[in-house]
This record gives sequence, C-alpha cells and structure tokens, in this order.
Amino acid sequence: MRNFGVTAKAAVTDLVAGGAHLGELVSDRLGDRQGRDAVLRVDVLILSDRSGPLCTEHDVRPALERADAILREQAGIRVRTVSVRVITEPAPARALDPRANQRLLLDDIKGNTEFFRRHLPPAGTIGAPVTVVVVRDIDGRTTGCSLGMTADWVICQRSLFDAGNPAGYDETVLAHELGHALNLPHHSDRQNLMFPSSSPPQGLRGTQLKPWQRLVLNANRHTVPGVRTDAPPGQRTEL
Ligand SMILES: [Zn+2]
Repeated sequence: MRNFGVTAKAAVTDLVAGGAHLGELVSDRLGDRQGRDAVLRVDVLILSDRSGPLCTEHDVRPALERADAILREQAGIRVRTVSVRVITEPAPARALDPRANQRLLLDDIKGNTEFFRRHLPPAGTIGAPVTVVVVRDIDGRTTGCSLGMTADWVICQRSLFDAGNPAGYDETVLAHELGHALNLPHHSDRQNLMFPSSSPPQGLRGTQLKPWQRLVLNANRHTVPGVRTDAPPGQRTEL
C-alpha cells in the first residue's frame, strides 16, 4: 500500500541513564506555570531534482506550525524555525531517494548523504537545530526517518507536504521525526505522536505525549530550557 506511511524506528540510546535527575528538573519547570517554554530550533533544507525544488517553504509551513502546536501543548516546547533553505542544485538520486532505518545509517556511513550533509549546521552543540531535509521518495513505505540522537537531521519525503494530495499529506510525520531526533522511541498507542505508522487521510496517528515523553523531549542537547518570567531581569535570556 503506497500510502501507508511507516516512519522509521529510532536508535534509542541513553534514555535511562540521566533521566531521573533531568526529569526532576524538568518536572519543576513544567509544573511552574510562570515558566517560559523551552525552545527547539528547526532548520529546513529542501532538495531539488532536475524539475526544480521538491516543494516550497509555503508547503512546509503547516507541518512546522503543527509541530510547534503539538510540542508546545504537550511538552512546553516552542518549535522555532530558524531557516527554510532550498538547494537549487539538482541533488543526486542517492540523496533524493534515500533508504530508511538501518540502511539509512549505512548509507550515511558510506557517504551517500554527503550532498545534503554539507549544508547542515555544525553538529553537536547545545541548542543545535534539528534539520528537516525534504527528499523526493524514501525507499519502501517509509515517509520519514530519523537516526535518533546520533544525527542532527531527519528526512521527510515531499508527499507529506503536498496538500493537493490527501492520500499522502500528513502533518504528523515531521513532528514524529523531531520526536525521534530528541531521543523518543516508538509508542504502541495509536493516539500517541510516536505511534510508528500513520495512514492519510483517514488513519492519521494521534498527537498525544505521555509525561515521561515530555521529560525526554525536554532533557536533551537540542532543547534549550526556558527561563522563569519572575527571574530578575539580569538573569533572563531571550531564546
Ligand atoms: Zn518513527
């Protein structure tokens, strides 16, 4: 079934190790309605093929706004889009039509993702943005893929952003892949944002998050904590 989108299983790593301590800190902040939202910066990179850009900024905006609404409501995180860039140079097929899951990891190691990786921001810094790379067609039934915390980028195929094609349009996938990039594994509840599959237009996954998922989303190197609005002015930081 071409339209049954399955998003990739993330590489799940250090959920437990630092979770308890960080969880306490985040609980304090989430419980404080005076606190400001944390911030996740997102960068979008749209590839082109020989016909031109795969989509436009206008096409991607609703999914970015949806991700912001979901994460703000469910996890106290604002999604701030820092840039939407189009690479007009036609990309090679290995970048336009990547493979998924472990095979994407293998391709990454082999250098097949080099075309868009050279356009990514420096990796590994605190508060580093997650880059959403819009590709043409991911191999198989997969429509989005993340390598989890091992990469600062995720891929989403362009059909997800084509509002003229209801059978492929799905705003939940971008938010789902951001969840993987922030270290969330899959969840078995269909109403959860991290449910593995989503079938537009009738069978979309839900957008709920569990309390422990909120903690994970807030406790990683991409999410910059907010500051309390009642802190002295000298201690405030605009994000
Ligand atoms: Zn997934």
